[in-house]
Amino acid sequence: MNPGKLIVFTGPSGTGKGTILSQVLACEPQLRLSVSATTRQPREGEVNGVHYWFMSQAEFENKIEHDAFLEHACYVGNYYGTPEQPVNDQLAEGYDVILEIEVQGAMQIHKKRPDAIMVFVAPPSMEELSNRLHGRGTESAEKVAARLAQAETELSHQSQFDYVIVNDDLGEAIADLRAILRAERCRVVR
Ligand code: 5GP
Repeated sequence: MNPGKLIVFTGPSGTGKGTILSQVLACEPQLRLSVSATTRQPREGEVNGVHYWFMSQAEFENKIEHDAFLEHACYVGNYYGTPEQPVNDQLAEGYDVILEIEVQGAMQIHKKRPDAIMVFVAPPSMEELSNRLHGRGTESAEKVAARLAQAETELSHQSQFDYVIVNDDLGEAIADLRAILRAERCRVVR
């Protein structure tokens, strides 16, 4: 069996990565989402092992020491990381695996797994991103400001990606990601 493809899906918080992905995952049976670990507090409705593996800082640091992460980063005061073993297992089973991660982690994957397909999701504008993050109401005003500052840095990295999707219209963004997956599955490996 051919191993699956590793896809990195990055973009500033509030660009709609999660919404695009949940719809694409629902119609792409060959695609699996990697469940990340984080030290941030669960939001209302978030379930351990489904949305994230929620853990303490000590647990996370223990996993870093044991080299359990494919990548990890500190983002706005919390750790986030991709457990490596489940990703490798699913790729070996022939599934394509997508990582929804921020830009520092994406760059680590780019170095470690040069075959990974790098996709960046950009907001139509910073103003729109600010409206979405404030409108979502999941973070304090202070945290929203920190995420917006981080977004500026993240946007400056988009030229290092293979594909950029501007999430202006959700249906178009979903179609774009599916088109990328489809084209990559047809790519000739030399
Ligand atoms: P949130 O707190 O909104 O769930 O996530 C904050 C940021 O961390 C988002 O940009 C999200 O994509 C990113 N993120 C989620 N999981 C991981 C991970 O495993 N590694 C890295 N580097 N970033 C992650």
